[in-house]
Amino acid sequence: MDLSHKMFSEIPSVIRHHGNAGNINWLMTTYSAWAHVVALVGVFKIMDCSKETLMWAFLLWPISGLGITVGAHRLWSHRSYSASFPVRVFLMLCNSIANQGSILHWARDHRVHHKHSETDADPHNAMRGFFFAHIGWLFLKKNPEVIRAGKELDFSDLHEDPVVMFQRMLDPWFALYMCFVFPAQIAVKFWGENFWPAFFVAGGLRYVYVLHCTFLVNSAAHLHGDHPYDVLSYPSENPYVSFFAIGEGWHNWHHKYPFDYATSEFGISSQYNPSKLFIDVLAAVGLVWGRKRGTAACEMGMVRRDRDREAGVPLPKPAPRPWKAHAAVKHD
Ligand SMILES: [Zn+2]
Ligand SMILES: [Zn+2]
Repeated sequence: MDLSHKMFSEIPSVIRHHGNAGNINWLMTTYSAWAHVVALVGVFKIMDCSKETLMWAFLLWPISGLGITVGAHRLWSHRSYSASFPVRVFLMLCNSIANQGSILHWARDHRVHHKHSETDADPHNAMRGFFFAHIGWLFLKKNPEVIRAGKELDFSDLHEDPVVMFQRMLDPWFALYMCFVFPAQIAVKFWGENFWPAFFVAGGLRYVYVLHCTFLVNSAAHLHGDHPYDVLSYPSENPYVSFFAIGEGWHNWHHKYPFDYATSEFGISSQYNPSKLFIDVLAAVGLVWGRKRGTAACEMGMVRRDRDREAGVPLPKPAPRPWKAHAAVKHD
């Protein structure tokens, strides 16, 4: 596992290296440090909050999470289903509470990630280790390969969606308001909470928690888990990540069939996936439609694999992961 003492002990020299090379994105690094301080203050403010505020902060985990999973990810990045205007507005508002950059930028980075996974053109290339894939990538200026790859993709569908462009136009101020201030205003208005405890807990602490839940998809789900659908790829099936990221941990399936709205092979009774349930409920009342699935493509792949096996064609074998190869060298 890459989450080791060595990784943490090397952080100062990595920072020195990038500082000397002029690679650090100071705006994002400063903002991220500020957000984590606000979240830390939130930890100490938990005892000052009413139980309604704590429940509100807890509910904002799935509410803001849906803005990422069902919105920025499955709808806007992958177009795995179509959504009516009111649903798109609702998802945009949830997405703004999550405050992970505008939908336009999130979807752009994500499409590049899928097309160039585990290469220099992947914005959060997991080959560079857990810390980089998790959050370190945000502290650095983008690799020129990432910028070049972004220029080669088509984002006209995003530019044509007025909901996406409205949020982009008000970025980052609207998202900052929705993330930190709006949750506190709700708590003040509806159950008479004091503003600042709600700001720090339902705003800052909840925000940073959901941020790390999302980051786990890029770090843990790219480094740890099973690979039943594509043994050669890094993305893996990770049920723990699915719990934190409300259904986004079935990542080996997702990278193999990115157009699948469920981002998992099975239904919600066997694979934890509240985001799929939410889309299914919206489809049942006619607010979304055109849900695509990867199951037919998967079945075809299995038929092909069985045919190859009978013909004596060797099954693909993955190269050892870098950290496993290092461990093997050390043992020899
Ligand atoms: Zn991924
Ligand atoms: Zn994706």
